[in-house]
Amino acid sequence: MKNQKIIIALDGNSSCGKSTYAKRIATEIGYAYIDTGAMYRSVTLAAMEKGLFDETEAPPIEQIEEVLKTVELNLRFNPHKQRTEIFLNGRMVEDLIRRMEVADHVSYIAAISSVRRKMVEYQRKLGEEKGVVMDGRDIGTVVFPKAELKIFLTASPEVRAIRRYKELIEKGMLVELEEVRLNLEKRDHIDSSREDSPLKQADDSIVLDNSEMTVEEQMVWFREKFDRLRTEE
Ligand code: C5P
Repeated sequence: MKNQKIIIALDGNSSCGKSTYAKRIATEIGYAYIDTGAMYRSVTLAAMEKGLFDETEAPPIEQIEEVLKTVELNLRFNPHKQRTEIFLNGRMVEDLIRRMEVADHVSYIAAISSVRRKMVEYQRKLGEEKGVVMDGRDIGTVVFPKAELKIFLTASPEVRAIRRYKELIEKGMLVELEEVRLNLEKRDHIDSSREDSPLKQADDSIVLDNSEMTVEEQMVWFREKFDRLRTEE
């Protein structure tokens, strides 16, 4: 493939460092980074703001679909913060969607097929011209089954809980490690067992367990795979 741009699909469990890794890869090779979890989180936020989760953990799908119709999402790069931010109906929600309350409900929303259809449509459009690193759960299996490089990232549950806990504490959020661990366990379970586009490893993906690896070491691993692809015909 020499110097043509490709699609890099990065899938894996919650909190195994996908976004850190994907951002780093994108910066290093000059690709766009697309965080698909942020899209499902934004739909969740929209449903929460309509009060759909006030009384129940599982609001009726028709109500979610009504909210979904009103949802417009956009991604824009903020040069001051050096990050891509997500906009829900014109409002920047990048920070709001990281809250634990959103994480608590997102897997319920992400299991709904009509939600997935709309998000996948956005994602395919964003990857149309290639040159993207996209992270999520179903990028290599459903969104871009022909992605040239598919990485399936994993790490032990303990490592993942500690990483996410530290991240939330650094953002000034008041959370308990146990609460974070339970949320990850619950999300992994729902994400892997849902009927539509469950989290699973694509047959042609390469697995990377980063439990004991620094980001630098993961970059060395990535470089080797990426360079090898580029020298192939
Ligand atoms: O990646 P992140 O943890 O922000 O994703 C939040 C949730 O969005 C996941 O737990 C999963 O339920 C859902 N998701 C998904 N498919 C994707 C990306 C995220 O179902 N491609």
